[in-house]
Formats: sequence, C-alpha cells, structure tokens
Amino acid sequence: MTVLGLDDTDSRERGMCTTYVADTVARRLAETGLTVDRVLLIRCNPAVEHKTRGNAALAVHTDAPIETAFDVAEGVVSDIAETADERTNPGIVVAPGNPSDVPGKVMRFAREAARGHHTRTDAREHIETAGYRARGWKNGRGVIGALAAVGAWRGFTDWTYEHITYREPDRWGTDREVDVDSVFEAADAHYPDVWDTVDRGSGEAVCVPRTPGPVLYGIRGDDPEACSAVSDHIESESVDRSRTFVTNQGTDAHLRDGAVSTARDGHAYRLDGRVADAPETRRGGHVFFGIEDVDDSLACAAFEPTKRFRDRVRNLRVGDRLTVCGEVSNGTLKLEKFAVRELNRTELVTPTCPDCGRTMKSAGRGQGYRCRECGTDTEGKAERRIERDLEIGWYEVPPRARRHIAKPLIRGGFDAQIHPEK
Ligand code: ZN
Repeated sequence: MTVLGLDDTDSRERGMCTTYVADTVARRLAETGLTVDRVLLIRCNPAVEHKTRGNAALAVHTDAPIETAFDVAEGVVSDIAETADERTNPGIVVAPGNPSDVPGKVMRFAREAARGHHTRTDAREHIETAGYRARGWKNGRGVIGALAAVGAWRGFTDWTYEHITYREPDRWGTDREVDVDSVFEAADAHYPDVWDTVDRGSGEAVCVPRTPGPVLYGIRGDDPEACSAVSDHIESESVDRSRTFVTNQGTDAHLRDGAVSTARDGHAYRLDGRVADAPETRRGGHVFFGIEDVDDSLACAAFEPTKRFRDRVRNLRVGDRLTVCGEVSNGTLKLEKFAVRELNRTELVTPTCPDCGRTMKSAGRGQGYRCRECGTDTEGKAERRIERDLEIGWYEVPPRARRHIAKPLIRGGFDAQIHPEK
C-alpha cells in the first residue's frame, strides 16, 4: 500500500480545487490498472492563517508503487502549480505501507492539524524522520496539509462522505445549471442519511457552491450510497466526472475541550460558562453576548449569516448555563452551536401586598418593601417565574452557515437533547 497526501492546490482566480486534483491523480493511477481504495478529503483547522478556501487536504490510498504514485502526483500538481495564483503553495507527501499503520507522530500531526497550528519546519522534520518522499512548490506550505492527510486515516475515527460532481471544463466560471426543486426532493428523500444539502429555512441549495471552479455540487452524509442516490436524482447540466470522498467533515474534529479563562485566538473550543452579559444586536445584525466562568469572561457572537440561529441566541438570559462551541478570534468566540444546560427561569420583581394586592413600595435603602395601605412588609424583592422560549439541549447554526468541519446535530452522539436545523 501507498499513501499519497496532497494539499494547497486551490486557486481563487482560476477556481482550481484540491479535490479535483486528487481525483485527477486517482484517475491517472486507475487508468494504468492500479487500484485506488479510497480518497480522503481532510478539513484542517479552519482558523489557520494563510488558509486556502476551506483548508482541505487530500489523501489517495492506492496499491501503486511509491515511485509511480509520486511521479503521477508530481506531474498533475506541477501542471497546476505553474499556472495557479501566487497564493497557492502545493505540496505532496508519499508514504509506504498501510494508512492505518503510520507512526504515532504522524497520526498526532494529523489530529493537531485539525485543531491547532503546524509550521513547515514541523512537517519537514516528521517527513524526514518517517523517511517519506515529499515535494513542496513555491514556499512549500502545502507539505503541512499533505502530511496531515497521510496521517488522517489513523488520526481520525469519525468519518462521513461527500459525493462531489464536477462540471465540464468549458463551463467553469459560468453560472451553474442545477434544478433546485430536484435538489430539495432528493435531499428530503434521504434526510438524515444526507445532511447540509439544502437549507430549508432559507430555501437555498447549499450543496451548490457559488465560487468559480470545477465543482458542480457536493452531497454530504453518513451513507455513501445515499449521497450517490441524491446525486442521481438531481437534474442539472451534464456532469463531467464525480467521486465519493471519505471525509472528516461534519465531525467537530476542530473542537477541543477548554475553559473560558484559557481560550486563545486561532483555536476552536467547547467551553462551559454562564451568560454574564445579555445578548445585544449590533450594527450589521450580529448578535453578541458574554459568558463567564469563575476565572474569566469571553464574548460570543452569532453573525448575520447565521440568520435564524440569532433568534435562539437573543433568547438567552443572564444566568443561563451553557456549553458554547466555536473558533476564537480577536477575543470573540464565533458560535457554531451551543447547549443550554440550565435556564434562569426567575426574575426579581417588586412584591405585591398579600392582603390587598397592591404593589408595595420601597421602605428605604436596604429596608425591604411595605404596603402603605395595610402596613404589611417584606424583606426584599419577590421571585417571579418567567416563560422561556428555549429548551434544555443543543442548538446550532443552519446548514447555510455551517463550517465544513462542524458536526450537524442530526448526526447524533451529543450529550443532551438536540434541536437540529434542517
Ligand atoms: Zn396592602
């Protein structure tokens, strides 16, 4: 077995896409009679600076000899690297042996690539120690993702699928012709085995990208056959080629457990806290609130594109206990989902007189309240139970605002009731 990792061949200007490059490599290997077992699509830490679109790396698992795999990948990537825009820095790494047997260091490198930050020097050292063949183009940053892709099969345990279809090359850059009604019908027929195909709240076909490039649409889900079946039912312009990728999308592989006081920019967390500052809608429609634990506080934000999710956030009250998930940048956690652990269901109000029912008056600072008619008194404010529009459990952003790597609630495995967005 040979594991071929490749990364950073996306180009904003020419609309190239790393998945297309990996598919091309896999096709060339298959054309010479070699076997390709699977192609992985790995999403790395979405917070990483310099990221290409979606920060994807790919791995091809094949029986091709090392030299063949390297030569084919080098040929395909060189063609693209020469013409792609200056921000792309492709890299390839080729490893011998079964992808389940990569060294522990390479496995951990893959996990950390989804949650943290690596340097080219880190990657080069691991490649040298492991004795892998590698090549980087331009500044060589692509070897980081390529090595992560090599370690991914051992590094991750939760896998999902994406069936990606590609456009005829002469149509790249033009408007996509996809019948939205057929997308909704197919998505409904196979939900929840497939998810994030459409956004039923906004009426958008989120599986169809808006950026220029070779992808016509991508169908994501837990069942590869259901992903293909949805694709078969979609009416669209002619499909040039397609492939089902095995991916860590929709798995929350980027989240780490943390604390409000230790959360740092550039990482994504699961954090427990208590709402300390009430939600506030600011210019642009972004909603902010503050959470705190015993040591520190942190701002959380639901941005305008999260649409109806913001209504959930606006329903939070000071004192609610939450678990919040998302990436921290500029000292603010960008909410992807949150769990309500405990709702503050009471508010303090001026008491009413038990005898006459009139509102009591303050008897002076720290003196409690008194009814001027009856002379009854009480020590402090009364607690009143209030109705809440939130329930205990998990809430999430809608499909239109989901990050590739974020886990949709409908996939299950959460520690409380779920309130999924479809
Ligand atoms: Zn009274």
